[in-house]
Amino acid sequence: MKPTKPATIFDHFSGLKDNLPYVNLCKLPTPIKKAKGLGDRLGLQNLYIKHDGLTAQPFGGNKVRKLEFLLADAVKQEAEEVMTFGFAGSNHALATAVYAKQLGMKSISMLMPQTNHPYVQRNLLAGLHFGAEFHVYRNKRLLRLGARYQQWRHKKKYGKTPYTIPPGGSSPLGAVGFVNAAFELKQQIDTGVMPEPDIIYVTLGSAGTAMGLWLGLKTLKLNCRIIPIRVVDHDFLSKQMCLDLFGQTAQLLHSLDPSFPLPDTAEVKAEMNIRNEFLGEGYAKFNAPGREAISIMKETENIDLDGTYTGKTLAALVADARNNQLKNKTVLFWNTLNAHEQSAPAKDSDWRDLPRSLRKYF
Ligand SMILES: *Cc1c(COP(=O)(O)O)cnc(C)c1O
Repeated sequence: MKPTKPATIFDHFSGLKDNLPYVNLCKLPTPIKKAKGLGDRLGLQNLYIKHDGLTAQPFGGNKVRKLEFLLADAVKQEAEEVMTFGFAGSNHALATAVYAKQLGMKSISMLMPQTNHPYVQRNLLAGLHFGAEFHVYRNKRLLRLGARYQQWRHKKKYGKTPYTIPPGGSSPLGAVGFVNAAFELKQQIDTGVMPEPDIIYVTLGSAGTAMGLWLGLKTLKLNCRIIPIRVVDHDFLSKQMCLDLFGQTAQLLHSLDPSFPLPDTAEVKAEMNIRNEFLGEGYAKFNAPGREAISIMKETENIDLDGTYTGKTLAALVADARNNQLKNKTVLFWNTLNAHEQSAPAKDSDWRDLPRSLRKYF
C-alpha cells in the first residue's frame, strides 16, 4: 500500500505543533527505489536509494528539508533578509536564495573560495537569477569579520539585521529537517516501500543531514547504522562538533516537547564512526574513488552524482561492498544531490554582474 500522507515529526510529537516553526517547501516523501543495476554490479541483493534530489522544485537536494524549519523561523521573526554562509559553489547558499525569495525575503550569500568546477559557475549564476547578494572572504576569520560588518551595514540601510543561517543550514533547528526525514523513512518502511535497512550511507558536510537523521532513527528505536562520509576538512568540522549538534538538536526538541527523549550521549559518542578516508585532498577536490563511483552510478542507474559530496559517499559504499562487508545486508544510499536542471536560471544571468572576486570562476 502506498502512503497517502507522510508521517512527520508533528504526528509523533504533537507538542511541537504549537512552537516549532515550519513552512512547507518540499513535496514529501521522496521516493525510495531498489537499485537493481547498481546492486547487481556490486553483488548486493538489497540495495536501495533515497531520492532526496527530488525534495522540492525548482531546486531539490538535502538543504530544502532544513530550510522548511529555518526559513519558517525567519518568517516568524519577520525577517526581510536572510544571511548564510558557504563555499563559492554552495548548494546551500543557492537553495537559501531560491526559497527565501519564494517567501518574499532576500538572501545574502557570504562565501569563501573553493576549487573551480562547472557546478560552481552554474550555482553562482542561478544565485544571481534568484536575487542573492554575494560577498566573498579569503578565510574563516575574514568571513566572521565580514559577517559582522554586513550585518551592521544591512541594519543601517534597511533598519533590520538579516536572519542568520549557519553554513549548510546545520543549526539544531536546521537539523530538525532530518529528524523529520527519519520519520518519513519509518513510514516508508512500515508501508513496505523498503525493508528496514541495516546500513545507511550519507554524506557528512556541515553534519545537519547525518546527525538529524541519526537522532531521528534513535528516537524511533530503529537499529540501522548510519555511516557518515566526511567530505570537508577537519578545521571545518570535528567529531566534537557533530556530537554537539546531535545533542543540541535533541535538547531543542525536548525543550519544545518534553516527551521528545534525550539520547544517551556516551552511547552516541561510542557509536559515531565517521569515515574520513574518502575526503582525499580536501573539500571539492575530486578524487579517483569518487570519480569511479560516479561512473558506476551513471552506467547502472543513469543517475548523476557529484564529485564534491555524493560521489565520495558512494565510493565508501563501493569499497565496503568490494571488501565483503555488506554481504546479506539491506543497504540504503541517501542521495542528497539536487536532481533538477539549473541551467535555465543560470542562462539568463551574466557573470559580469558578480563581485570581482567571483568572476575568476568564469
Ligand atoms: C550540503 C550537501 C551535503 C552535506 O550535508 P550536510 O547536512 O551539510 O552535512 C551533501 N550533499 C550535497 C549534495 C550537499 O549539497
